[in-house]
Amino acid sequence: MDSEAARLLEAADFAARKHKQQRRQDPEGTPYINHPIGVARILSREAGVTDVAVLQAALLHDTVEDTDTTLAEIQEHFGQEVRRLVEEVTDDKSLPKPERKRLQIEHAPHSSRGAKLVKLADKLDNLRDLNRCTPAGWSERRVQEYFLWAAQVVRGLRGTSPALEDKLLQLFRARGLPE
Ligand code: NDP
Ligand code: ZN
Repeated sequence: MDSEAARLLEAADFAARKHKQQRRQDPEGTPYINHPIGVARILSREAGVTDVAVLQAALLHDTVEDTDTTLAEIQEHFGQEVRRLVEEVTDDKSLPKPERKRLQIEHAPHSSRGAKLVKLADKLDNLRDLNRCTPAGWSERRVQEYFLWAAQVVRGLRGTSPALEDKLLQLFRARGLPE
């Protein structure tokens, strides 16, 4: 069995190769991989997560949704536990965007603890990005709507990580959103 460090680096390398053509939506066009690494780092540093499968899932969380990666490929390289986590945090791409957003709110409370952790850190990283700078073409209203939707998802993830939930709550409060 590989060491935990080796398993983490395998996932980071896999995600970096899969996302290599992609950029974030910020005006600088930050490389996409900065986000999955940021999500894994939030879990490690700010939520005290040491479960390597959860950290690997964080690194891989957008590969199936946003690249040609399949769940079978994730399972082959990283095993069933990581595959299940990635599956839980992957939207059904055959559905229209508004429906996907509604389902995230509906499914959040029924997710596994590992998936809830990844979802919390994913929202926190995205909201911090939005506070840092507005993506090209986004109105202030659209940013506010994104915060409102994220707050609804996060409400269904409560009781998972007080540290992350507290930081998210502060961001929602700063936007004047209801708890
Ligand atoms: P999203 O609103 O889903 O885009 C945000 C997603 O992009 C994030 O969840 C994140 O996902 C990723 N992302 C990439 N770069 C950044 C960044 N710098 N900061 C934060 N997030 C980033 O939208 P789509 O562009 O896919 O548009 C679809 C939805 O947007 C529609 O359903 C509609 O509701 C809404 N919309 C609203 C408009 C408005 O004016 N109000 C206009 C157009 C669309 P990940 O974690 O996967 O990286
Ligand atoms: Zn993400």
